Amino acid sequence: MLLRRLTRISAFFAALLFITVTALPAQAYSWSGYKWGSSTLAVYIDGGQSGQNSSGWSAATSNWSSATDINLYVTTGTANIYLRQTRISNVTWDGITYRSTAGSLYQAPMNAYLNSYYTDGYTYTTTRGVAAHELGHALGLEHVGGCYLMNSATPNRCGIYYPTSDEIAGVNAIY
Ligand SMILES: [Zn+2]
Repeated sequence: MLLRRLTRISAFFAALLFITVTALPAQAYSWSGYKWGSSTLAVYIDGGQSGQNSSGWSAATSNWSSATDINLYVTTGTANIYLRQTRISNVTWDGITYRSTAGSLYQAPMNAYLNSYYTDGYTYTTTRGVAAHELGHALGLEHVGGCYLMNSATPNRCGIYYPTSDEIAGVNAIY
């Protein structure tokens, strides 16, 4: 009798667990654990770069800003995030973001770079994708596997050049 009741109870909890697990939305985004202290951030797009890189940064900035609760505005003055170009041949990265922190917060100035050694050979769309990826880092996202903007390798993003709904939800959850 007791055994039967225990079986019934455990079956109930097993069912409850199943419902709970399957009801959770799939989440792929990964948070660095750091964020900006404000959801309004000034972005500086360095003028000394190729038109493709500069346009890529600009489009990626607009996209993150319109897609999420974050407000990114372009300034020619002091900024939180500086979007720049460099040219280095002996590295494997096409873009990089240097994040400095204070406690649990990001602090300015944060510098992100597109590497023209690679982006000069990219289409505009691919370059824009690299820019959007680096801005994802600048806002607090880390790498994930699979078909996402935040996949570490540009060729492995399955043609995704803007943040996916998961990554948008991730940034909104962080801020
Ligand atoms: Zn990355």
